[in-house]
Amino acid sequence: MLNKTNILGVGFTEEKESKILEYIFSELRKDKKRRDKIVIFTPNPEQVAAAVRNEDLRNLLNQAQISLPDGVGILWAAKLFGKPIYARITGVDFMKSLVKSISNQPVITGYFGGQKGVAEACALCLQKKWPNLRVGYASDFYDKEKMIQSDIDILFVALGFPKQEKWIFEHKDEIPATVIMAVGGAFDFFSGRIMRAPGFVRRIGFEWLFRLILQPWRFWRQLQIWHFSGLIFREALTNRLKRLKT
Ligand code: UDP
Repeated sequence: MLNKTNILGVGFTEEKESKILEYIFSELRKDKKRRDKIVIFTPNPEQVAAAVRNEDLRNLLNQAQISLPDGVGILWAAKLFGKPIYARITGVDFMKSLVKSISNQPVITGYFGGQKGVAEACALCLQKKWPNLRVGYASDFYDKEKMIQSDIDILFVALGFPKQEKWIFEHKDEIPATVIMAVGGAFDFFSGRIMRAPGFVRRIGFEWLFRLILQPWRFWRQLQIWHFSGLIFREALTNRLKRLKT
């Protein structure tokens, strides 16, 4: 089990990407019946702000075995509170690293969610890049029998937050996959349906602005980022006052 550190009540995995991948491989190397399930969520500042207001959401997010710090705001908050999170790990980048590293292994992947045809397009694009990648399931529709027969090891779920997180916990025990990851808009990026921010924009922490320009309807959702900043500021102030008192 990997350690987590807490930011505003939501746990985040402390390890770097390479260690997290190694943890996943060690589980996948085991005989299928002896493997533990690994649920991966990727909480960003919007999700943490929602989890602060809603205890059920907070409990749901905290049930994941792995929580990736998806957002530069999480990194800044970790720095401010001295928490051991050293790099932002986005869901889409982690999914890419995971797919790349198992692409020549006998590991079967599955893709569920997105708009009609996008999961299939995403799987095809990934197979174009890594021709040995095994795909057992790709659809926007959940067919339980087909999913069970596919014998997949890793399932990527793209239904948006919090639908995908709830769906994963409702279905994880009937799905043969060892690893089940919530990936938000990742299928849209891999399939080329939506353009991802260029590398330099991501590096300076402005991917959110790029997404807002391409998808202006995100404006209301992204207001949550300001709410998150307010919560972080309040927590930092409370901690400082507590330290001054002692
Ligand atoms: N989506 C879906 N069913 C829904 C709501 C969303 O399949 O009921 C898909 C949507 O098509 C998109 C993804 O879920 O591919 C969510 O993308 P979004 O950009 O909102 O996620 P983010 O990356 O911001 O977490």
